[in-house]
Amino acid sequence: MAKVLIIGAGGVGQVVTFKCAQNPKTFSSIVLASRTKSKCDAIAQKIKEKIGVDIQTAQVDADEIPQLVKLINKFSPDMVINVALPYQDLTIMEACLETGVHYMDTANYEPKEEAKFEYSWQWAYHERFMQKGLMALLGCGFDPGVTNVFTAYAAKHHFDEIHYLDIVDANAGDHGKAFATNFNPEINIREITQNGKYYENGEWVEIPPFSIMKSLNYPDVGPKNSYVLFHEELESLVKHFPKIKRARFWMTFGDEYLTHLRVIQNIGMAGIEPVKYKGVDVIPLEFLKAVLPNPGDLGENYTGQTSIGCRIKGIKDGEEKTYYIWNNCHHQDAYNETGTQGVSYTTGVPAMIGAMMMLQGKWYKPGVWNVEQMDPDPFLEKLNTSGLPWHEAINVDLEL
Ligand code: NDP
Repeated sequence: MAKVLIIGAGGVGQVVTFKCAQNPKTFSSIVLASRTKSKCDAIAQKIKEKIGVDIQTAQVDADEIPQLVKLINKFSPDMVINVALPYQDLTIMEACLETGVHYMDTANYEPKEEAKFEYSWQWAYHERFMQKGLMALLGCGFDPGVTNVFTAYAAKHHFDEIHYLDIVDANAGDHGKAFATNFNPEINIREITQNGKYYENGEWVEIPPFSIMKSLNYPDVGPKNSYVLFHEELESLVKHFPKIKRARFWMTFGDEYLTHLRVIQNIGMAGIEPVKYKGVDVIPLEFLKAVLPNPGDLGENYTGQTSIGCRIKGIKDGEEKTYYIWNNCHHQDAYNETGTQGVSYTTGVPAMIGAMMMLQGKWYKPGVWNVEQMDPDPFLEKLNTSGLPWHEAINVDLEL
């Protein structure tokens, strides 16, 4: 029986709130707070209508530590689930330390003025969380999140040493729009227009965006053009599994999407420096976000499915072994259950489970941790019964 405060009322926030409400034995009391309270109220109303659970709502600017402290003191939650934007990670962590509550998020900190994400800023909080006897769990969505748990599960049950890790992320869905992103457009476009990066033999190899492509076969989906890009879980996974020789992240993009993206970049709409327009400072990417479809609203006509997993090669009992572990999620199933598309769903479900693991004490450890540092078994057991069943195949052709 615990009280949870969820911050952020976007697509992911909607799913986390739904999933917590479905598990009242653990989450006996739920507060949803965000910058725009009306969005929290709309989610609360949907949940009340669909499953009859009451959600409290509140307004907060999570860039402001005093506002967060006031909010946390008002509701006295046991933990905060941060599903606002990566810009708010540090202010929310500070507020958790000040008020003595546990913390969890799904994306690592990124400064607003620079399109760069890495764990150093949040790992630096380890001692302070330890000293307070508090836990901060980082990156508990799907990727990062489930992909880290998949890797930890492979290391625990299938390998003595993992040597090659390829995380493969396909969205074989169709939302019927000419161009839309599946989560916050600003964060998404910042992420994919950066140089790509992968890890090989102890070093990071930097590559121009979309310069490595391979057609990979995804279960139940078929072949899809997949591109190497940098993704944050690579940083923590190579640290925590030091025997890894090479780690890469692959994501599928359609030609139409890439053409739109190229045009957006070429005309300067992906810029994050302010531009004066009629005497007002406008950040092109923020303006673009305002005109693109809201990812949280894509669900209704979204067909197809996502397929995300880890393809791993390594050694077990002196023999070379390959292993593939994955989940497929249908956008329509996600929509029917929670009113959002599959990308919000695959992020929000693991966030609920991570919080559940912490509150039930199965994953409780003071300090700042990544998901792969926890026991993967209870998490994967719960994932199976929470809408994201997973599958595995041993000694198959990984194509990589
Ligand atoms: P949205 O943009 O749909 O939602 C973000 C929410 O945060 C909005 O409700 C927004 O408020 C709120 N917010 C933004 N700034 C503030 C602030 N200063 N104070 C309070 N609330 C604020 O994003 P998504 O739901 O798509 O994504 C949420 C998070 O999940 C992101 O960090 C994203 O990177 C992460 N993510 C992680 C994935 C994973 O697999 N690990 C995959 C997909 C997403 P408002 O409505 O007023 O704008």
